[in-house]
Amino acid sequence: MILVERKSPQMRMLIMGPPGAGKGTQARGIAVRHGVPAISTGDIFRANVAEGTPLGVEARRYMDAGEYVPDEVTNAMVRDRVGQADCGRGFLLDGYPRTLEQVKELDAILAEQGAVIDVVVLLTADLPQLVERLLRRAQAEGRSDDTEDVIRRRQEVYLEETARLTDEYDARGILVSVDGLGSVDEVAARIYRELDRLVR
Ligand code: AMP
Repeated sequence: MILVERKSPQMRMLIMGPPGAGKGTQARGIAVRHGVPAISTGDIFRANVAEGTPLGVEARRYMDAGEYVPDEVTNAMVRDRVGQADCGRGFLLDGYPRTLEQVKELDAILAEQGAVIDVVVLLTADLPQLVERLLRRAQAEGRSDDTEDVIRRRQEVYLEETARLTDEYDARGILVSVDGLGSVDEVAARIYRELDRLVR
């Protein structure tokens, strides 16, 4: 069993998994439990789109097609966000990094603070069931980037790029895989059990 030694009171975590696996909901629970902010790059982009900021106008072109916002835009945004005061005790990133380039960039950003990622939580789930779940959510929330084509494209993009990242974190011995199917409380209990086993 891997044990992640906590050398400092900070806790820097990532949550990964395919779109619709319930990352956002679980991220908020983990963040509250560990007293750190949950940072969702998708949420930050959506807030900027809603406010019509220059970042939002730029990001929307990609989001509406289900494609990634370019790295230079996304990386700069994350660098700024994890440097803010509320990240002093750590953070939980949701939706970043999504490419190997972003993994490298995050390592570089943290290296400047003498820090590393401590734990990566991977939610696993069956893709057809996820597409169903996302279509229901899109109807309920009216998200402009959630048409069926865009949902399928986002799953493809995830499989093509993001899945490779988990190998990288697994090789570092910091990956925790958790079955993401089930009720919010069931999945949360699985995650907390794993985090409690791995982090001390
Ligand atoms: P999400 O809510 O995490 O699924 O993100 C919604 C959309 O925001 C994605 O489909 C991308 O267009 C964009 N986005 C979010 N995070 C990233 C990222 N790390 N890199 C590039 N684009 C991103």
